[in-house]
Amino acid sequence: MIIFKIAYWVGIVVQVVLRAPFAMQVRSSKKTDRRVSRTETILLGLLTIGGAVIPLVYTFTPWLDFANYSLPPWLGYAGIAVLAASLYLFGRSHADLKSNWSSSLEIYEGHSLVTSGIYRYIRHPMYASQLVAAVAQVLLLQNWIAGLTGLVVFILFYTLRIGAEEKMMLETFGEQYRQYMQNTGRIIPKL
Ligand code: SAH
Repeated sequence: MIIFKIAYWVGIVVQVVLRAPFAMQVRSSKKTDRRVSRTETILLGLLTIGGAVIPLVYTFTPWLDFANYSLPPWLGYAGIAVLAASLYLFGRSHADLKSNWSSSLEIYEGHSLVTSGIYRYIRHPMYASQLVAAVAQVLLLQNWIAGLTGLVVFILFYTLRIGAEEKMMLETFGEQYRQYMQNTGRIIPKL
């Protein structure tokens, strides 16, 4: 249904708008550490392909129609609710991370370790929001290629980035991050 495709694109626009002030702010920040490997650059490119390029082809051309599937309407509406939850998490984590946000693995001059707000419960709420958004994509873009690439690419990205990010945080914040790890889960809160 067209409404599900529209919802997906509204979600993308909301993400871009929520992120824009942070992306602008960090442009002028001085970096004291930057760990952008070739793998990292490829992964960021794949995220754009899975989340935007393939969905664009699916939305505006008939080329992928051979791979369409059809879910019961209630699952599409559930997709809108899942998307809304992901946007809440996305906005909340940006608001809490503030000027420490980066699209990649970077430490800024004056970088502070955030352990409050949503970061009190999980260490990676922004990645959690992207995972939830990828689930919404499966429900909203009902196509084996356009619906699933987001999830596949995100799992690959998450698996390869998370270790490097936590290693960087440990090397930067030492004992403080170790303690923080003991009290939080990566994307599911510790009981
Ligand atoms: N992984 C986090 C943040 C993603 S943005 C999340 O999913 O919410 C990536 C940048 O955030 C990294 O460059 C790292 O420097 C920074 N970062 C990650 N966790 C942080 C924290 N608890 N406090 C401050 N900066 C953090």
